[in-house]
Amino acid sequence: MRLVLLGPPGVGKGVQGNLIKEKFNIPKISTGDILRDAIKNDTSEGREAEEYLHLGKLVPDSLINQIVKKRLPNQDCKNGFILDGYPRTLPQAEFLDEVFDEMDINLDKVVSIEVDEDVIVKRLSNRRVCLSCGEVYNMLNDPPGENGVCRSCGEKKIIQRDDDKPETIQKRFEVYNKETHPLKEFYRNNGLLAEVDGDGEVMEIFNNIVSLIE
Ligand code: AMP
Repeated sequence: MRLVLLGPPGVGKGVQGNLIKEKFNIPKISTGDILRDAIKNDTSEGREAEEYLHLGKLVPDSLINQIVKKRLPNQDCKNGFILDGYPRTLPQAEFLDEVFDEMDINLDKVVSIEVDEDVIVKRLSNRRVCLSCGEVYNMLNDPPGENGVCRSCGEKKIIQRDDDKPETIQKRFEVYNKETHPLKEFYRNNGLLAEVDGDGEVMEIFNNIVSLIE
């Protein structure tokens, strides 16, 4: 199963991607996570990407394309994978097609998760993450444990991502509407696009996704 998860920031791609990963036993490749790790580890890719992430802008296609091209031939991807946050521009989608051709594999589905912008802005501004283990919380309906301790790893390092601050959220939406939204048309024309309503219970959305991809 080879999937792309599409949708604006904060729509639930990460959460749904993790559930799909568990069910189908395939890795979830989040380019945002890869870049954040690279920044944390102060690699050359991280240093190149840092400024873009802080400003809510997309990193250059050439940088992210090479990261993905390096990642896909890994042994853990041989039964499939979920791409979360990639491709995000038309040139990235075209590049991905070329990589697939070279690897002689096909994309099975592009799942686009749909939620109104005002609902997402509210979600994102309440999102918090654990700096130690990456667990995601929402201060409205899924807060961390008592005294702000991570329920997953027990550390007390729950933070708001820089790019979840209001001014950056706005910028990320502008970027999504301009650069990423046109990909829906691209994948609709390829017959790969499946749209799913992302405003509801996590498991209900997940079941809808599963019935679309199975
Ligand atoms: P995400 O966690 O997917 O929202 O990604 C966080 C940030 O990483 C984005 O706002 C971009 O700055 C950068 N990023 C992640 N994936 C890509 C991509 N496919 N193309 C360009 N920039 C990306």
